Amino acid sequence: MLKIFNSQVREKQSFVPLEPGKVRMYVCGLTVYDYFHLGNARTLTVFDMVYRWLQRSGYAVKYVRNITDVDDKIIDRANRNGEPIEALTERMVAAMHEDCDRLGMLRPSAEPRATGHIEGMLSMIDTLVGKGMAYAADNGDVYFAVREFPGYGKLSGKSIDDLRAGERVAVNTSKRDPLDFVLWKAAKPQEPHWTSRYGNGRPGWNIECSAMCKAEHGDTLDIHGGGWDLQFPHHEGEIAQSEGASGKAFVRYWMHAAFLNMDSEKMSKSLGNVFTVREILAKLDPVQGGEVVRYFLLRGHYRSEINYTWDTLHDARASLLALYTALRDVPAAPIDIDWEQPFAARFKAAMDDDFGTPLAVAVLHELRGEVNRSRSGELSGLLRALGGCLGLLQADPAAFVQGAAQGDDAADIDALVAARNAAKKARDFAEADRLRDALKARGVVLEDGPQGTTWRRA
Ligand code: AMP
Ligand code: ZN
Repeated sequence: MLKIFNSQVREKQSFVPLEPGKVRMYVCGLTVYDYFHLGNARTLTVFDMVYRWLQRSGYAVKYVRNITDVDDKIIDRANRNGEPIEALTERMVAAMHEDCDRLGMLRPSAEPRATGHIEGMLSMIDTLVGKGMAYAADNGDVYFAVREFPGYGKLSGKSIDDLRAGERVAVNTSKRDPLDFVLWKAAKPQEPHWTSRYGNGRPGWNIECSAMCKAEHGDTLDIHGGGWDLQFPHHEGEIAQSEGASGKAFVRYWMHAAFLNMDSEKMSKSLGNVFTVREILAKLDPVQGGEVVRYFLLRGHYRSEINYTWDTLHDARASLLALYTALRDVPAAPIDIDWEQPFAARFKAAMDDDFGTPLAVAVLHELRGEVNRSRSGELSGLLRALGGCLGLLQADPAAFVQGAAQGDDAADIDALVAARNAAKKARDFAEADRLRDALKARGVVLEDGPQGTTWRRA
């Protein structure tokens, strides 16, 4: 039986959905103002893996992942680009789909957009105001009154008084309590807005998710996911709004994916240490890149932080290539997985234990050893089928191992780039030019910038 670590109770629990055989799952998706980065990709890929394993376990899963398409960052970026907000968000949604596809993600069952659910948000706000849990303030905003919801803090395990003690006071005299959060923001001039009985405005972020959960799933969900950073205050806010309005339990199992770090710090726009998925894929072999990144993201457990470096990504590539090489050398027979088979049983036990992908991947490697020893097409077929449960190992093995660049890999190119830089530094321009041309002949373009020379495939 599947066990899930429920972040609200901080322990693994047997998974029992509200309705037998059905799973209602919601994951906080992206704010579409830019290309997404590897940290975002981690969270998205983790829940794609969860979605696949729930389906494999026989559930009919409705997987909803929202799109935040109105927000300060979007408005800012559109203004700076001098383009309409819709043009920016359309472009970024299309790019998001392209990148998700390249990382081997399935499309969610629904991808509701915030701007399509304003009515539902306003009706939830009305309910909360009617119950005395929200109030229209004198500045035109509407706030949720955290002290009116007794369960506030239950997800993050914080009490309102602890939160008050730890806060850095940002004075907003319109709020009754500094922890109150905005449900509806009064419109500023030149900003997109909707009319409402509270005046012209736009929704706060938390209410978006509560309203979209309700519209897509009803009052109670089985699984609600997101990155670790969303647990507080975003998810705490969602609980307060949804349970405050419906009077029913909102979420049965909360799941949070740990961060992807760079140099032990969370990869995030605000820290400026981001690599977009596009940048990373541009440096990898186009045949292999998407699956290498997926494999890299999934071989760690979703509740453990992972550290991104070029070396760890390369190590993941070598490990994935070993699996594909076995499939190339021993053609896979088409099989249906027999879950009693010892390798399959261990793989399943690992996945049923809170989505234990590190152990599941280790089983794939043991099986690879067995395939190489036995040359058994059945076992090779099992390897391919088990990999498929994680969205891996479905490409043509010979083509995958060869790659588009016919064996030259990024480390190889890095070495040539370094040699060219050394030649340039030694003022041996003939040699530097020769190396640049040699790289060009391999379809590699050099880009000299303030941080040194980087490269991409033409
Ligand atoms: P954002 O666009 O920043 O709101 O993030 C979208 C999703 O990506 C959320 O579920 C975040 O928790 C998640 N996320 C952002 N940065 C990281 C990171 N470095 N590692 C893992 N997940 C992240
Ligand atoms: Zn959300």
